[in-house]
Amino acid sequence: MTPTTIADAGRRLRSGEVTSVELLDSALAVAARTEAQLHAFLTIDRDQARETADRADADLAAGKDRGPLHGIPIALKDNMTTRGLETTAASQILSGYVPPYNATVVDRLAEGGAVLVGKTNLDEFAMGSSTENSAYGTSYNPWDITRVPGGSSGGSAAAVAAGSALGALGSDTGGSIRQPASLCGVVGMKPTYGTVSRYGLIAFASSLDQIGPLTRTIEDSALVLSTVWGHDPLDATSYPGELPDIMSGFGRGVDGMKIGVVKELSGEGYEPQVESAVSAMVENLAASGAEIVEVSLPSFDIALSAYYLIAPAEASANLARFDGIRYGHRAAGDTTESLMSRTRAEGFGPEVVRRILLGTYALSAGYYDAFYGQAQRVRAAIQEDFARAYGQVDALVSPTSPTVAFAAGARTDDPLAMYLSDICTIPSNLSGHPAISVPIGLDDQGLPIGFQVMASALAEDVMFQVAEEVERLAGFDKTPSLAEVAS
Ligand code: GLN
Repeated sequence: MTPTTIADAGRRLRSGEVTSVELLDSALAVAARTEAQLHAFLTIDRDQARETADRADADLAAGKDRGPLHGIPIALKDNMTTRGLETTAASQILSGYVPPYNATVVDRLAEGGAVLVGKTNLDEFAMGSSTENSAYGTSYNPWDITRVPGGSSGGSAAAVAAGSALGALGSDTGGSIRQPASLCGVVGMKPTYGTVSRYGLIAFASSLDQIGPLTRTIEDSALVLSTVWGHDPLDATSYPGELPDIMSGFGRGVDGMKIGVVKELSGEGYEPQVESAVSAMVENLAASGAEIVEVSLPSFDIALSAYYLIAPAEASANLARFDGIRYGHRAAGDTTESLMSRTRAEGFGPEVVRRILLGTYALSAGYYDAFYGQAQRVRAAIQEDFARAYGQVDALVSPTSPTVAFAAGARTDDPLAMYLSDICTIPSNLSGHPAISVPIGLDDQGLPIGFQVMASALAEDVMFQVAEEVERLAGFDKTPSLAEVAS
């Protein structure tokens, strides 16, 4: 049987039971059978992948072991630059853009011997919660192909859930790794801000953006994270200090830990089956010896509003570089100004335009303090709320998403409904803290439910310790029927 986790594949590679080329072939075979329905990938480069897998096999045979991702097929969200391979951020404005350099995470994956299967679909510039904002067509959820996989890293989540990659990288500005992981029944984690280099990540909102792994298991999540994180002089916001020993909490359970249930992340708008699955898991954690307390973080109620000022404000500045002169698409124009404005009118989709307009407005003279300044004060209040909470508890828990995967088209005409998809995930972006989504079961329609574990800055070890117990208690080992039909 083909391995379904990175850890298992790694063991079998080293025992000679399987080769990297075989792992790649099986990932590509799943993609060949499922892509017509899922559309998880924007680009698959078989030849390059095959070459890397061949080299991984030769290296291993020669005794050169590059670490836990050696020979493992990994997918990459298409907002991280790959030298010589088209990188679009799912935008028309970058169609045909072939970067001259690799993102730092891409170099780290390569140094770690990983095999890049392909570039995955996303909402344009990572703005969205469903991948429906991709300029190249929506991705679909492997558990029910009439539904969205979440977003913006929906392609990465769908690929890992279907088995066309054993792991993937996504980016998370307000929930874009965790929410799609939740909707697709896989593990998705956002590390502490600054611990994974953003060099080569196409910027959305630089003070919030963070790259992280999507995988089948908690252990795999730690294996991918350990390969890509660490200080990078090419990213001025990269954290230069020591990183936590993330494997240290594995196998220790939660006995004696104090876990806070976030009061504000429940109630109206939350599906009853999501709430009952989360409550049942909290009871199980108590039975495993954790002390459970309810914690109130009142500023969470205004986190979403603050995010939708800060993120668009930063986006409006970051996206100014797409002018038709330096990258990608260029429209005709008699003057520089008309060339630029036509390029931007043709190249950006409606959600991106909405964000640029919102952000420009929020930053404009006369409104700056009322909008952007006020949002920054809310951000500070959220940080204070978190600090108070982590003075009392080791970790905080909540649903990852208020709902399970929704039908394609259901929220496209209602931006606010779409924005609410990230209500549980946004606070950890505003604080810069690590958080992870763990699949804990299926609802009565067979759709996955995710459980979020949040921890304080650089407490990834604590986060993984709790998440591993959640994974063990849930015993979630289901795979979508699409993958079953496919394999
Ligand atoms: N869905 C949120 C948004 O649209 C978060 C996106 C993200 O994390 N990249 O902004």
